[in-house]
Amino acid sequence: MIRYKDDAGIWRRSPAARGANGRVKPGHALVNGEAIPVENGTYDLRHTVDRKTVYSPAGKRGAVADAKRTQLEITKSIVAQAAGNPDIEVVEKTDRATLKDTAAAYIKDAEGRNAHEAADKARLVTIEFKGLMRRRKKFHVDQIVRDDFFFYHAALRARGCADRTVANGHERLASWLRFGGIDKKNIPPTPKYEDKLPTIYTSDQTRGMLAAADPYMRVCILLGLKCGLRDQELMHLEFRDLNWEDKTLRVQAKEEWAFFPKAWEQRDIPISDDLLEELHCWQNRREGQAIVLGTKNRKPNTKLLRTLKRLVYRASLNCGRCDSCRKLKECQEFTLHRFRRTYLTTLLRNGIDIRTVQAYAGHKDIASTMRYLTPASGPEALARLNRVKW
Ligand SMILES: [Zn+2]
Repeated sequence: MIRYKDDAGIWRRSPAARGANGRVKPGHALVNGEAIPVENGTYDLRHTVDRKTVYSPAGKRGAVADAKRTQLEITKSIVAQAAGNPDIEVVEKTDRATLKDTAAAYIKDAEGRNAHEAADKARLVTIEFKGLMRRRKKFHVDQIVRDDFFFYHAALRARGCADRTVANGHERLASWLRFGGIDKKNIPPTPKYEDKLPTIYTSDQTRGMLAAADPYMRVCILLGLKCGLRDQELMHLEFRDLNWEDKTLRVQAKEEWAFFPKAWEQRDIPISDDLLEELHCWQNRREGQAIVLGTKNRKPNTKLLRTLKRLVYRASLNCGRCDSCRKLKECQEFTLHRFRRTYLTTLLRNGIDIRTVQAYAGHKDIASTMRYLTPASGPEALARLNRVKW
């Protein structure tokens, strides 16, 4: 539109006239379909905002005003497309803290404190949450409300995360957003979860598994049960990690397999005489294999857990009650990790002090080891009760 004074000296606004080439004709208004010359006209852009007509000044030069109009049209069309298109990210350029920037700063902060594990977790949580919020068209910390946390919990549950994992993810998310300056009232409390006592194998279960095991799985079970190795540690153990003189086993990095012990610390674990004997025989049968439980192709066996589940099924040890038993005939009660829990619990119950057990376990803090100080139950506990001299 062009604004000008008409012959009677009254301010008027008319559409800007255009020439045959389609460009704005400088100093001309379109009145009754005709281009008429006006003096000292200024251009305005006409918009509709919330059903109101709004004029914004666009200068005295027709070409410049027209260029501004074109730019505005482009912006409007992008915004209009973005409204129905999840691939277009609309981020207003303001001083408001964005999820993207605060996530990067939060991770950098953790790395600056040498908290690498925390930084890794932060990476996972921030990526997932940003993705979820993109679906909700939220890009700023100040847009996040309690419901977004619940949305995140639901997403974790949908991919099978346990309550404990959901609670951990929640705390990491809240920590990041607090770092980003979120208002505390927008953070719901951490979802509750039952802190289950570590479950261990009964002696009947271990006996049953050992009875059904071939020599290979026998070594696997005994290493889990009597050295408490983690799944990855079990998979990557090599004969050179065994010290026959000291009767110890060393958990250490295997760079060729990209295996690094948790918390990056190597540790030595004592081996009982009977297990040492079994390992010695096993090495003789393995003819030059480097990995204790390697595959035929001399690689770490990533299917140990699978093999254990099949063994359990063959030995009729499945509980028959869990979902996994009914659907897959693979009992969820049986895992490699449960050997480790059994190992730690058994050491503590047999009077080995908690600092020593912590060192064998490779726990960074003693609280993790303390979880294994669980109440005893079953026939052994009863027998001990009966031995008490009152
Ligand atoms: Zn089961």
